[in-house]
This record gives sequence, structure tokens and C-alpha cells, in this order.
Amino acid sequence: MKIILFGPPGAGKGTQASLIQKQFDIPHLSTGNIFREAIKNETELGKKVKKILDAGDLVPDHVVVDLVAEELEKDHYANGYILDGFPRTVSQAESFDQLLKSKKQNLDAFIFLKVPEEELVKRILARGEGRSDDTEEGVRKRLAVYEKETKPVKEYYEENDIVFEVDGTGTVDQIFARIRALLEN
Ligand code: AMP
Repeated sequence: MKIILFGPPGAGKGTQASLIQKQFDIPHLSTGNIFREAIKNETELGKKVKKILDAGDLVPDHVVVDLVAEELEKDHYANGYILDGFPRTVSQAESFDQLLKSKKQNLDAFIFLKVPEEELVKRILARGEGRSDDTEEGVRKRLAVYEKETKPVKEYYEENDIVFEVDGTGTVDQIFARIRALLEN
């Protein structure tokens, strides 16, 4: 199963992706996690993207697309995956489509986790992960980038009839139950 887990920052994509990974045995690929890991390990990639993440901006499309294409070559992802944080622009979605086409593969579901904006800000500030971009200013910036650059990705996939909207409010378990019901059908 190939799934895109989509939604604004703070919607709970990472948490839900981990639960899907456990329940359905599908690996979780988070571009944000890869970038944070690279920054922590001070790799070339990390040095290149640190300022961008700190500012709440987006890493250039070609960098992300190359990274995902390379990552998906691993055997680990041969039977499917959950993408979290990618694609984040329409251009990334188009490149990803090309990649899938070249492998004669299809996406099974695009799950949109729907959460009201004020709830998002509260959640991010409360999660206290100590992420350097988790300040109120950082959060507002990421939400603005989401509105402008990322939201159109949902419209892009709506043309394919694979978009499922899930209520992203409530407890982690309640939200997961909704996703699980959807994936089991
Ligand atoms: P996330 O953990 O998905 O919220 O990502 C954290 C940060 O990593 C974002 O604010 C971006 O700076 C960067 N990032 C993650 N995924 C992407 C992507 N697909 N395109 C561009 N930048 C990304």
C-alpha cells in the first residue's frame, strides 16, 4: 500500500504515520525527520538545509525530490510506504507522479488530516519537542507556507479520486481509529 499522509503542520501526521506503520507493517518515510537527522549528524545535507528549517521555509524541490527518489530505491519500501511531509508543493507532486509512472506504480490513498488552525498552533507549541522551529513565530510562518505552497497539493490529487478526508481532532486513538477504518476498507 502506498499512502500519502497529508495535512498542515501540527495535524499529527508523524504520530499517525507511526501508528499506521505498526498496524499495517508499512514503513514511514518522513522528509522532515530525514532533514532533522541530517542536521543533527552535521552531514552535507544537514548543513545545506539547517537555515531553511530554522526559518520555516521549504527545502528546494529538486533537493527533496532527489532525496525521496533515492530513499525509495531501498528494499525496505518495496511493498509500500507512508509518505509524511512529502509532496509539499505541486511541483514535488508532479515529479513524484513521474517517478511512480516510470515504475508503473500507483498511489493507493491520499489521506488529509483536517484540523482547525487555532488547534494547530496550540498543539505545536504544547508538544514541546524543542524543535528549533517550534516558536510561535515559526509556527505561524510554517502555517503560512502551508496555505500558500502546500494546500494546492490536495487539489492536485483531488483529480485522481484518491483523496480521503479524516477528522484530525480528538485523541490520538480516536483519530487512528478513523484512519484504520478507512484503510481496512
Ligand atoms: P515536517 O517535519 O514535515 O514538518 O518538516 C520540517 C521542515 O522540513 C519543514 O518546515 C521544511 O523546512 C522541511 N521539509 C520537510 N519536508 C519537505 C518537503 N517535502 N519539501 C520542502 N521542505 C520540506
